[in-house]
Amino acid sequence: EKKYDYLIVGAGLFGSVFAHEMTKRNKKCLVIDKRNHLGGNVYCEEKEGINVHKYGAHIFHTNDKKIWDYVNQFATFNNYINSPLSLSKGNLYNLPFNMNTFYQLWGTKTPEEAKQKINEQIAKYGVKSPNNLEEQALSLVGKDIYETFIKEYTEKQWGKKATELPAFIIKRLPVRFTYNNNYFNDIYQGIPIGGYNVIIDGLLKGIETKTSIDFFEDRQHLESLANKIVYTGKIDEFFGYKFGQLEYRSLRFENEVHDIENYQGNAVVNYNDAQYSYTRIIEHKHFEFGKQEKTIITREYPENWDRGKEAYYPINNDDNQKVFKQYKEESLKSKNVIFGGRLAEYRYYDMHQIIASSLAKVEEISKRKQE
Ligand code: FAD
Repeated sequence: EKKYDYLIVGAGLFGSVFAHEMTKRNKKCLVIDKRNHLGGNVYCEEKEGINVHKYGAHIFHTNDKKIWDYVNQFATFNNYINSPLSLSKGNLYNLPFNMNTFYQLWGTKTPEEAKQKINEQIAKYGVKSPNNLEEQALSLVGKDIYETFIKEYTEKQWGKKATELPAFIIKRLPVRFTYNNNYFNDIYQGIPIGGYNVIIDGLLKGIETKTSIDFFEDRQHLESLANKIVYTGKIDEFFGYKFGQLEYRSLRFENEVHDIENYQGNAVVNYNDAQYSYTRIIEHKHFEFGKQEKTIITREYPENWDRGKEAYYPINNDDNQKVFKQYKEESLKSKNVIFGGRLAEYRYYDMHQIIASSLAKVEEISKRKQE
């Protein structure tokens, strides 16, 4: 008899939801994480009384009432609505692309005028079958929107020229013909009051956790502790990179404390122009309508990734998908290991999607056991 039913590698949302649900079903869980804190990428670090989103700005949004009710068991959400701004060539614009943006860009006042402008631009600059990201964007929204908001920003994000990036990176570029700066279309949105750690603490309450433990540094011993393993780290690392290394984009965050109450008047300001090597500045207090005396801002710099850095965004090209498929097939053979979360599935997931996928996994296992 082993000490635990489940050893859960990774205390992010996937692992924490899994541990919570299995504990409710009377399973004994141990959650470990190699970082020195719980929560994975949603972790907030408190400084100057402000919850700093340590791994990038996180805004909860979903259309799924079940997931909304689920997270509301653990925290109360505030009424934050994400309405980022974009600074481009000295001017500030509202995002996402909507009637405010079009007014700021062209002076158009009615939806008819704005539509006409966009259609003219698409007719003039668009191409039939776009071969790269630039052609794709020009075909979807025309030159002005592309050059003001997309070109330089995207080139910084990917570290490549827009003409060298594949068209599929941009599938759609939604434009909105109302004066509505709400970035997301979802019904439910907000930031947990007290920060995301409140949710993680709620999920992991009463569950054994250990931080600063890397699974691979003590693999045999850790494996011997539990009947099953839930693995939420990088899938290629689990298999010793035997089919090759999956690639990511990384980010570097530079934090600054300012001795003023309000730095930029908004939580998120994108910096479009190439002259800034960061893509945005986050002012954390505005996520929670903070009234602290000081403020903390974070500049977000896209970076090339290597194994020593945090893996943020999977690079979903054919080469990586081929490699991933091999790992995926291999993972299906490991009967005692459950793979889940953004790193094991090599996919970008929003928080609500990760919670849904962890809940689905628990359901699947519980059903199988009953049969
Ligand atoms: P993670 O949170 O990464 O958890 C995995 C954990 O496993 C990590 O803590 C890691 O340390 C640990 N681990 C890995 N390997 C090992 C090992 N060998 N041993 C021990 N532990 C290990 N979602 C939204 O809904 N809204 C947003 O606004 C939003 N913004 C985002 C901004 C950025 C910059 C990024 C990168 C993501 C954003 N997301 C957002 C997505 C959100 O972060 C993820 O959906 C969520 O955090 C994924 O949870 P997870 O458990 O899969 O992974």
